[in-house]
Amino acid sequence: MKFRNILLFITILLVGINQWGADKINVVTTYRYIADITQRIGGDRLSVTSLAPGNLDPHFITPKPSFIARLRKADLLIINGGQLEIGWIPPVLQQANNPGIMPGSKGFLSLMEFIEPLDVNLNASRAQGDVHPEGNPHIQMDPYNIPLFAAAIKDELCRLDEDHCTDYQKNCDSFIRQWAEKTAEWDSSLARLNGVKVVEYHKLYEYLVHRYHIEVINTIEPLPGIPPSSRHIAEIIESIEKQNARLILQDVYHGSQVAKYISGKTGAKVVIIPHDVGAVKEVTDIFSLFDEITRRLTGS
Ligand SMILES: [Zn+2]
Repeated sequence: MKFRNILLFITILLVGINQWGADKINVVTTYRYIADITQRIGGDRLSVTSLAPGNLDPHFITPKPSFIARLRKADLLIINGGQLEIGWIPPVLQQANNPGIMPGSKGFLSLMEFIEPLDVNLNASRAQGDVHPEGNPHIQMDPYNIPLFAAAIKDELCRLDEDHCTDYQKNCDSFIRQWAEKTAEWDSSLARLNGVKVVEYHKLYEYLVHRYHIEVINTIEPLPGIPPSSRHIAEIIESIEKQNARLILQDVYHGSQVAKYISGKTGAKVVIIPHDVGAVKEVTDIFSLFDEITRRLTGS
């Protein structure tokens, strides 16, 4: 090949790569667990980024200017929903001013709509703390919800990009198959927690405890978003002793001093349970999220 031909070839190749890159569907997700599932379904057809880091309180994310820039360029926004993002996503969405990803538009997906919510309380008021009327929003904590999200994301990608629907379908099928195998392992390990009594800091683990018949006897936060009084802490200590609760489930973003104090008085063990990809260093994707939850809960 002559030098000029080689140059021509390289130019064509670079233009090709560039167009192929520009062609990708730009997806923004609010949380990292959603980004991981989406990437598995979309493969290299997508460019996926998530806004919130996995180790912060998902209710209270401080928006950065970069959020607006990313939303402005997005073709698809996938949120958790159930008002989990109500404190931080509406203002950035408004500033991004991208009609294609606004709620109700073709490029907007809320995962909460695809599962059976727990703790629905339509009469909730702010006086009851940071209560969510549509139900508990921490929906990723039940491994059985994950395939429902995968299917919803696959359907959405098929609507946006019909030409590659069979690829999305294939990726989704293989993800759901792999997930079912892992779920069988988690089920058999977590079966030993059936009937175990626990206390949790925030109502972050409702879907997990409901799935595995773990009994929450009390919550360190008296109401969602409200820190405990010393009187409430004394009540928790009493209830742990009376009911022989064994574990205190603590999230990664509230300080664990109260849980440790209660543990010191009662002997109940504090277990830090991750809630998202990146919550702790062991959790790098949606599979290791449940591997790590299982490992920590079973003490293995
Ligand atoms: Zn919450």
